[in-house]
Amino acid sequence: MRAMVLHAPRQPLRLEERPDPVAGPGEIVVRVEACAVCRTDLHVVDGDLTEPKLPLVPGHEIVGIVESCGEGVDLVPGRRVGIPWLGHTCGCCGYCASGRENLCDNPGFTGYTRDGGFASHVVADADFAFPLDGFSDPVATAPLMCAGLIGWRSLKMAGEGRRIGIYGFGAAAHIIAQVCVYQGREVYAFTRAGDDAAQALARSLGAVWTGGSEESPPVLLDAAIIFAPVGELVPAALRGVAKGGRVVCGGIHMSDIPQFPYSILWGERQVLSVANLTRADAVEFLELAPRAGVTTTTTVYPLERANEALADLRAGRFQGAAVLVP
Ligand SMILES: [Zn+2]
Ligand SMILES: [Zn+2]
Repeated sequence: MRAMVLHAPRQPLRLEERPDPVAGPGEIVVRVEACAVCRTDLHVVDGDLTEPKLPLVPGHEIVGIVESCGEGVDLVPGRRVGIPWLGHTCGCCGYCASGRENLCDNPGFTGYTRDGGFASHVVADADFAFPLDGFSDPVATAPLMCAGLIGWRSLKMAGEGRRIGIYGFGAAAHIIAQVCVYQGREVYAFTRAGDDAAQALARSLGAVWTGGSEESPPVLLDAAIIFAPVGELVPAALRGVAKGGRVVCGGIHMSDIPQFPYSILWGERQVLSVANLTRADAVEFLELAPRAGVTTTTTVYPLERANEALADLRAGRFQGAAVLVP
């Protein structure tokens, strides 16, 4: 098998040949068809997330075909599956026992503590792989596996409000905006100042307003979701939500949040973070996405050009999601 491997933070990934993997008990070997690139991959490669397994194959938005199965696996070879960030949970900690496996005390994360999908093949825990029988386009489907799933969890955390602000109009936002429109909500999209391409994409997906993240929305919002890893956006978003409004931080890493006056939090406004996903989130979202007619905007890179895809993500050089194809 071939893989793009991280040996140390802030180093480019290196293309390597590795022995073909073998599925242990409860595991599957998946031939990767496509793996989307998530901002979290950038945080891993850049060393913002400090405890990766090394050497590491990044990538946790995987779509592929089951090639072989270990003992005790129900899936059959030939079936298309998706493999997300949540790669394993202990099943017995207090969080797992109370339906909050996203907060498990002993989790495994694909492309962080387990090898991921920037490769031709990946080994996954079969219990954390999702059949994708109705999804015929691996490239279009890959961004659903994290941008979609974490975006969906973020939207649920935002509550039932009608007016939803979205800060950072990248992969997650462009998926979740479509879900909001399907649910009859209004999307207010905030981008980097002057990012006309992102604002045009947001409008094409049904946003009722677009502007720079330093701007105030034209009306007070019921909730705001921040996908950009920028702490300054938390007070900015708090100023834009109505009483009782929520500000949801959807990323795994964010720069420091500046000091802000209590008055912009008062009025029962809330600031929340989203951590990981549960398998229930995945089942819900993979059922909802086709019903909502979610489409994705993708830029395809051959696997060998993973470093270029990461650099382009860092620089904001494409709309939607980058997807690696082995
Ligand atoms: Zn991700
Ligand atoms: Zn647990």
